[in-house]
Amino acid sequence: MLRSVILAASRSSQVERLVATAPFTRDVVRRFVAGAATDDALRATRGLVDDGLAVTLDHLGEDTVTPEQATATRDEYLRLLKMLAGAGLTPAAEVSVKLSALGQLFDEQLAYDNARAICAAADAAGTTVTLDMEDHTTTDSTLEVLGKLRKDFPSTGAVLQAYLRRTELDCRELSSAGSRVRLCKGAYKEPESVAYQSTREVDKSYVRCMNILMSGDGYPMLATHDPRMIAIGEDRARWFDRGPERFEFQMLYGIRPEEQARLAGEGYTVRTYVPYGDEWYGYLMRRLAERPANLVFFGRALISKK
Ligand SMILES: Cc1cc2nc3c(=O)[nH]c(=O)nc-3n(C[C@H](O)[C@H](O)[C@H](O)COP(=O)(O)OP(=O)(O)OC[C@H]3O[C@@H](n4cnc5c(N)ncnc54)[C@H](O)[C@@H]3O)c2cc1C
Repeated sequence: MLRSVILAASRSSQVERLVATAPFTRDVVRRFVAGAATDDALRATRGLVDDGLAVTLDHLGEDTVTPEQATATRDEYLRLLKMLAGAGLTPAAEVSVKLSALGQLFDEQLAYDNARAICAAADAAGTTVTLDMEDHTTTDSTLEVLGKLRKDFPSTGAVLQAYLRRTELDCRELSSAGSRVRLCKGAYKEPESVAYQSTREVDKSYVRCMNILMSGDGYPMLATHDPRMIAIGEDRARWFDRGPERFEFQMLYGIRPEEQARLAGEGYTVRTYVPYGDEWYGYLMRRLAERPANLVFFGRALISKK
């Protein structure tokens, strides 16, 4: 019910105008999105890097429906990467890319070509790319594109979602040497046939997947704000003797900044995921619609910085 209300609102330009002018929204946007322009993204990145954090930048937008939109997204990433290198912010900053923003929904070859161009630009800029993971209908396609990209750009990162029943198996397949894998819980509304539904089951799966990745030969990227998962991650790092060059923690821009600073202060590699761009309305609303529990997530983050 709540989900369909939010989804309806996400398509309404009237509601968008209303939301865009509400003082609460401006605070939320400022807190969770670096800004609309590439310069805003660079400024936020500079601040985080100066504070000892690594960064992954996401140009907002997904589910593009025309080749022109997909090409425009690719070109923005190419521009961003050039600017990051010019500002000396690589390799501390890498980029996160959604294949659906590059044409995956209507032309998988186009999405691959665009992603390949971004990987080549990242390589030239001295950094790399992580492919975000979207809903489960795209998992096979995204992993297939990842496999092709890794032939020429082996550092291209994958994202695996612990709520999917298949993910333990995917972790095993992607835990080989040099394989960068971001492990998150998963942010989409998924059916029971493919995904665990309860928090407890998802958390247990996250720990099983973390064990596979941390005991494997790849480079795990533990993306979570959950204190229990972070504590278990710290424990596994000690157990498997993984130093800061062999795994990292990741959190979203504006969420638990003090915890990000604490972990970095203790010598861990911590990467902040920084979204930017003018499609923030869709980004925030879709996030809420995908998982209405995120209403609490965003609300709590506004109150707490810990
Ligand atoms: C870097 C990064 C990249 C991501 N990429 C993807 C992706 O490609 N695909 C995808 O589907 N999802 C992605 N996600 C989203 C992810 O799947 C989760 O939806 C999101 O991170 C919430 O799960 P959680 O593990 O942080 O903890 P939750 O299960 O949301 O929360 C667990 C506990 O963490 C603590 N906590 C959480 N948030 C806060 C807060 N704001 N303030 C204080 N305490 C808090 C609370 O104790 C809470 O009970 C990404 C997340 C991150 C951090």
